[in-house]
Amino acid sequence: MPSEFTGKHVTVAGLGVSGVPAAKVLHGLGAHVTVVNDGDDERSRAQAAELEALGVSVRLGDGTASDSGSAAGLPEGTELIVTAPGWKPTKPLFTAAEQAGVPVWGDVELAWRLRGPDSAPWLAVTGTNGKTTTVQMLASILKAAGLRTAAVGNIGVSLLDAVTGDTEYDVLAVELSSYQLHWAPSLRAHSAAVLNLAPDHLDWHGSMEAYAADKGRIYEGNRVACVYNVADRATEDLVRAADVEDGCRAVGFTLGTPGPSQLGVVEGLLVDRAFVEDRQKNAQELAEVSDVDPPAPHNIANALAAAGLARAFGVSAGAVRDGLRAFTPDAHRIAHVADVDGVAYVDDSKATNTHATEASLAAYESIVWIAGGLAKGATFDELVTGAAKRLRGAVLIGADRALIREALARHAPEVPVVDLDRTDTGAMLQAVREARRLARPGDTVLLAPACASMDMFTNYNQRGDAFAQAVRELGA
Ligand code: ADP
Repeated sequence: MPSEFTGKHVTVAGLGVSGVPAAKVLHGLGAHVTVVNDGDDERSRAQAAELEALGVSVRLGDGTASDSGSAAGLPEGTELIVTAPGWKPTKPLFTAAEQAGVPVWGDVELAWRLRGPDSAPWLAVTGTNGKTTTVQMLASILKAAGLRTAAVGNIGVSLLDAVTGDTEYDVLAVELSSYQLHWAPSLRAHSAAVLNLAPDHLDWHGSMEAYAADKGRIYEGNRVACVYNVADRATEDLVRAADVEDGCRAVGFTLGTPGPSQLGVVEGLLVDRAFVEDRQKNAQELAEVSDVDPPAPHNIANALAAAGLARAFGVSAGAVRDGLRAFTPDAHRIAHVADVDGVAYVDDSKATNTHATEASLAAYESIVWIAGGLAKGATFDELVTGAAKRLRGAVLIGADRALIREALARHAPEVPVVDLDRTDTGAMLQAVREARRLARPGDTVLLAPACASMDMFTNYNQRGDAFAQAVRELGA
């Protein structure tokens, strides 16, 4: 069947998880697809060979996609660029596109445009931290309500597969990163939530304002509810700035007692004062705080946001409870590894920035903190000041550990610090041994590095696994 893409010259910028499926789908719709990719490594060549076998042309490492871009220019005849979400808007390829009036879409925009007329509405989630967890909680709640759904986007099923595949959905729980939102100008969700907003990826977006503006795009055109975090004014400001459909409501979530049009916590219960009749007077009990795993404050906030979106879609209170009970968090997110000699060992390797680590540190009373890695331009003064009283000690690892050590010296000089100057595979074992030495019964040894892992590990998963392995060796 002819489509708006039939015969169109489309340049797909970047191979990889989004580029390969995008190229295949567009080729299948009859577009003339050229893929450009900066790298020319083994994996790229394998992906290129797969696409070329279908009739897609691929240019590897010829400069078209480079950052400096001396050779950059739009491939001849390009009418549309579909880019990998992580590609910086400052690339010369995009400047050339802008000058030529050629639109640039990300994978999310492409998926949005390709969805059919009766396709499932999107409940969308973004934020600096907590996206994956919240989207998974949301999918779990929607499933408990008997709806056909999936967690899609940055996780699980790809959005393109979800909208072009054979599986039918009633509603999608969609995780969106700030990059994806940047490249998705016409996306209009049923309802959306911004969980929180803290500086992250500023080198990509150029400024905090630009980062916030890209996150705020998620509220544009919402039909039923814009869910925001009462404790984070910036998220409410984004709701105010958004152009939404008539009748769409602003719904807050809070760890305190909820006001009208909010979800919150009262005496150990998650309650809804937004999607009830006569919200001035009434509230609906949704679940118990202990139904949320782990019941750390930031995770209760995630559960409330997920509940808000589900309730905006008309889900019952009972399904919210059942869905939260059925949810188990992904690995390396405040995962309890073991208790050894009365000390709990917790793996929050996914805490790769200070905002996540702040939440993590707030969840425990007395902590031996294992931190460090690649700081990505972050500063640690605020984090350390906020946590100082709860720190029994700190063990620092990784390339930028001096930044954390200096912040500790400035704001928590009484906290004992072990600085590990090694990056070999035994480093984590030594870090855990040092942490054990500092810990007292009742303490928590918490791996919440506030940094990326790539200086010492392949990724945060491997870092968390190394921690868990080291803890097991302690216990053995
Ligand atoms: P994302 O998909 O946004 O990266 P995850 O759910 O994978 O989020 O969690 C990432 C990290 O952020 C984890 O370390 C977790 O402890 C922390 N985190 C989760 N939810 C929140 C929140 N609401 N506020 C702050 N930190 C959070």
